[in-house]
Amino acid sequence: QLELRQISRSFDRRRVVDELSLTLNAGEVTCLLGPSGCGKSTTLRIAAGVDQQDAGAVYVAGGCVSDATHHLPPEKRGIGLMFQDFALFPHLDVAQNVGFGLTGDKNVKAARVRRMLERVGMQKFASAYPHQLSGGEQQRVALARALAPSPKVLLMDEPFSGLDNRLRDAVRDSTLDMLREEGTAVLLVTHEPEEAMRMADQIALMRRGRIVQVGAPYNIYHAPVDRKAAEFFSDVN
Ligand code: ATP
Ligand code: MG
Repeated sequence: QLELRQISRSFDRRRVVDELSLTLNAGEVTCLLGPSGCGKSTTLRIAAGVDQQDAGAVYVAGGCVSDATHHLPPEKRGIGLMFQDFALFPHLDVAQNVGFGLTGDKNVKAARVRRMLERVGMQKFASAYPHQLSGGEQQRVALARALAPSPKVLLMDEPFSGLDNRLRDAVRDSTLDMLREEGTAVLLVTHEPEEAMRMADQIALMRRGRIVQVGAPYNIYHAPVDRKAAEFFSDVN
């Protein structure tokens, strides 16, 4: 569904993403896992189209959306996004925020918004405004907003990071189950091995702008590509 082909990106002559290739499959969650600063968010931004690679190409559903000669803007890629700074529209209430990207029949839209708010446990806050919500509550609304239009590809940067353990487990199970059912190809950035082990169908282990290993969690855990990868997973049990 989404393919990154030999993507590179430099800032001030420093290569932050280095000939990175990655394929996301429909109905699967791929976790992009790696230490802070290794280039995860940059990779996500390039896939989304809010940043542009210096070299390489991006494909969505088999069609090229960005290469050396042309660049499709984010809103034309059929991709859903949730970034680390998940800003909600301050002048819209929760239901309006979640319904923002939806088109079509009013009743169908309202039902979809309700369902998404239930998924993230925010149905009681439908008519609240963002400034009335805590950080974690805003984050859940942002997640509901990203899920609502059923994008073919969904890119999420640490979407559960601000939630406490109990809430995180509930929201993550409920949303990832839905995404798998709907056949969405999900790329989920995290720097926590434990989270990736638990959620991913496929883990892409990233280090210094490169993907050093891709595979099912079980395989990466039991056959790490090198000592560094092994150490990275050593605290998971
Ligand atoms: P984290 O887990 O902390 O979010 P990350 O893996 O998402 O880290 P990126 O945000 O992709 O890392 O950044 C990778 C490197 O690129 C960092 O060293 C960062 O300082 C640098 N970088 C990112 N964006 C820019 C920019 N617009 N200008 C200059 N340097 C940048
Ligand atoms: Mg980041």
